[in-house]
Amino acid sequence: MITMKFGGTSVGDAKRLEDVALIVRSLLPRRPVLVASAMAGVTDLLLETAQLAVRRETGQVQANIDALREKHLQVANTMIPHEGRRAELIGRHAGLLDELSNLYHGVSLLKELSVRSLDAIASFGEVLSCLQLTAILSLREVPAEFIDARTLVRTDARFGEAAVDFSVTREHLRAALLPLVQKGAVPVVTGFIGSTEDGLTTTLGRSGSDYTASIVGAALDSEEIWIWTDVDGVMTADPRTVEKATVLPEITYREAAEMSYFGAKVIHPKTMMPAIENSIPIRIKNTFNPSHPGTLISNATVSMNRVVKNVTSIDNLSLVSIEGNGMVGVPGISARIFSALAQVQVNVMMISQASSEHNVCLVVPQGDCRKALAALREQFELEIARKTVDDIKLLDNVSIVAVVGEGMKGMRGIAGKTFTAVANAGVNIVAIAQGSSELNISLVVEEPDAAKAVQAIHDAFHLA
Ligand code: ADP
Ligand code: ASP
Ligand code: MG
Repeated sequence: MITMKFGGTSVGDAKRLEDVALIVRSLLPRRPVLVASAMAGVTDLLLETAQLAVRRETGQVQANIDALREKHLQVANTMIPHEGRRAELIGRHAGLLDELSNLYHGVSLLKELSVRSLDAIASFGEVLSCLQLTAILSLREVPAEFIDARTLVRTDARFGEAAVDFSVTREHLRAALLPLVQKGAVPVVTGFIGSTEDGLTTTLGRSGSDYTASIVGAALDSEEIWIWTDVDGVMTADPRTVEKATVLPEITYREAAEMSYFGAKVIHPKTMMPAIENSIPIRIKNTFNPSHPGTLISNATVSMNRVVKNVTSIDNLSLVSIEGNGMVGVPGISARIFSALAQVQVNVMMISQASSEHNVCLVVPQGDCRKALAALREQFELEIARKTVDDIKLLDNVSIVAVVGEGMKGMRGIAGKTFTAVANAGVNIVAIAQGSSELNISLVVEEPDAAKAVQAIHDAFHLA
């Protein structure tokens, strides 16, 4: 059995959906279980429309709902020649769009938009898309069955990025999906969404369908998890930044997790976790080029004689620095920093401390930086008043550039080569950090310099 996930572009129009049907049909002997995303652009549109609704821009809200209807209708008209089946799908879509319209109306009336409401709104994209995919496959000799993941994927109530309850979810998934697979059916599971014990809709975070696929694949003990997307595999850099980026045939789970955490959007960082626990290989494949072998992500120590595998960058970050003579040799400073930030739920992306202990810098998402600053100022109020800690400073618009590769471990000169390449490109390095695993070296640069730094490192390690 294999679990396969099709991303937004793969289900993004009639032509792509035709390719998906061909792929699924050719793989029927491997007993596929499918997970799919919303059509490309739909989740963004749903969330943007929610903002319009709360501002009571009713006309534009209606126009967007009409655009959604039209987008799906176009697919139904092209892909579902069978009149009865087409009418059935269009009817179900109409019902969903009415429900969505009611939600927007509620948001407008209350002039209130919570993360909880946003999750309920965002969930429509996957439901519309998977109903459509199921109907298309059913007419093409694939015995597809629509499955709403909210009935199976149990999460906590942290809306926007809910945590999955693995034991309950595993039980649900096995009970619902294994009998279907055994009788030869192909489940089509909505990615990205789940629900709480009380039945409230949650999402697993943006781009979370990859994670759903891995949760499903692990629960069912699939042989492999295949992520179908719009590039040939995981590449040495984001192909939109580095034109000559090349596909990596194999990487390890740890490398994949590290790359995706630092911005390689091709796979969601959480995807690796369920797969590692069950040693299930993940393959990244291109729907537009299915004969390409893609990238294999597994535990196998890779034979590629490449030390550095990939260079990524992640934008929209802020650097918070805490400095002062009173920090030297005082135990517990880092603990206080982290607990203050944890209390206000700010995720620290990177930390760097000079060996003098005089200065600690942290990188946090830009959207959280004011919250982080306030929490740290409060935590160190006394020290700031006594001047043992200088005021806490903030630098906005920075990026982390990360160089990733397991082969870097114990190799000398990698950091030197990285910094020289970046300096030669005329880019100023604001801070640096190396994880103790030696799996990555991360640099903080100003955002406008990030692409230049990525390109320079890519060239220096001959990744093209
Ligand atoms: P999907 O809708 O299939 O989930 P995404 O847009 O989320 O697809 O991810 C695929 C995109 O990730 C690619 O089109 C590419 O532009 C981008 N990307 C960023 N970094 C990398 C990388 N290192 N390797 C491959 N693709 C990358
Ligand atoms: N549709 C969701 C998003 O755009 C989930 C996904 O595509 O993986 O974030
Ligand atoms: Mg994605």
